[in-house]
Amino acid sequence: MIYDKLVIGGGVVGLATALAVKAKYPDEKLAVLEKEQDWAIHQSSRNSGVIHAGVYYKPGSRKAEFARVGNASMYAFCEKYDIPFERCGKLIVATSEMQLVSLKALHERALLNGLNVSQLDADQARQIEPHVNCVAALHIPSTGIVDYAAVASKYVELLKDEGVDLILNCQVNGLREHNWGYSLATTQGVYQTKFLISCAGLYTDRIATNAGVDPEMKIIPFRGEYWHITKEKRHLVKNLIYPVPNPNFPFLGVHMTRLIDGSVHAGPNAVLAFSREGYNWGTINVRDIFDTLSFPGFWKLAGSYMDEGLKEMYRSVVKSAFLKCIQELIPEIQSKDLLRGVAGVRAQALRPGGQLIDDFELLEREHAIFVLNAPSPAATASLEIGKYIVDTIN
Ligand SMILES: Cc1cc2nc3c(=O)[nH]c(=O)nc-3n(C[C@H](O)[C@H](O)[C@H](O)COP(=O)(O)OP(=O)(O)OC[C@H]3O[C@@H](n4cnc5c(N)ncnc54)[C@H](O)[C@@H]3O)c2cc1C
Repeated sequence: MIYDKLVIGGGVVGLATALAVKAKYPDEKLAVLEKEQDWAIHQSSRNSGVIHAGVYYKPGSRKAEFARVGNASMYAFCEKYDIPFERCGKLIVATSEMQLVSLKALHERALLNGLNVSQLDADQARQIEPHVNCVAALHIPSTGIVDYAAVASKYVELLKDEGVDLILNCQVNGLREHNWGYSLATTQGVYQTKFLISCAGLYTDRIATNAGVDPEMKIIPFRGEYWHITKEKRHLVKNLIYPVPNPNFPFLGVHMTRLIDGSVHAGPNAVLAFSREGYNWGTINVRDIFDTLSFPGFWKLAGSYMDEGLKEMYRSVVKSAFLKCIQELIPEIQSKDLLRGVAGVRAQALRPGGQLIDDFELLEREHAIFVLNAPSPAATASLEIGKYIVDTIN
């Protein structure tokens, strides 16, 4: 059988894209291939569970637009299908006078991105988060929380109802382009499709390369580790507390997040992972390490962020160093209140020249679309990203 369209990758982006395909082309034969034994077990369920509003993103970027529209569509989806969520709001807090300039810049950016945000003084911020340390804060009421694994399960249920072929334990190892489409060599035999959509998360670059396309980028895996706050101290965090991001570092910084199940976690940090699916220091993949170290862009990046990168590694292994970061936001948290939690790995896309790819990025071919970069807020915006991908197909 030749499928009309086939999606590689059963994370939230691949699943939402399949939903968008079915919405636009209801009669087409569609399959989703996922290498794992379950759906959405990588980035899509190892994240902060935040429905982002879109404060940080460059005005006019795809990320800014996807976050703005995706925030609303994620709430609407959760409401429609009874998925537990909360529009709880978040605070970005300046903990020193020095950060006020950056906080003001974030405020202006949020306004340019069309968000309803307000700047608070320390007393006003403490009415929302009584235990926070800050000199001022930005309040973003439209940020919320949800469990993206639950969102992904609903996507799968809807796709099943639509008669989509959902195939687990099916790793794509090779691709060949033909004048009618692609054939795929997988762990479950050969699949054929007239049109291919790759949403392979941490492996986007390898799928493109296997298909004979030069993606002009490489995925460098950065692990984000979380700590759990003990049950007794959860009350110290009401909702979401974020620091003002370090302008010299591409990640948002360690934040405090209440999850939809009521637990509270602190994280994620950002350390180079020795495997694309390396959720701890002990998971090492020689091919992944070679891929990272042989990529010229990595060494340029390492040169620019060496100092911050080493500090992140130190904080990863030395609990007291991580605690110091947390106490900056919530001084009452003590070492005994922190327990090691889960980790996720970010697919950080990098150019050969060492530039981080910040925005969402696609590569189009006659019979294929390769999603090359779908970073945060791609879980929030998965429904919008899916529609965008499908609208890109001619
Ligand atoms: C620590 C962390 C915190 C985050 N926090 C948030 C947040 O709070 N809010 C938010 O909106 N976003 C957040 N994000 C970003 C968000 O989680 C991701 O952008 C999003 O999940 C990407 O989805 P995806 O489907 O592209 O990737 P993935 O979830 O990684 O899915 C890709 C899938 O492709 C499969 N695959 C790969 N190669 C093959 C192959 N060869 N054959 C078959 N299948 C294959 C994989 O097994 C995987 O299931 C966070 C990310 C991380 C890592």
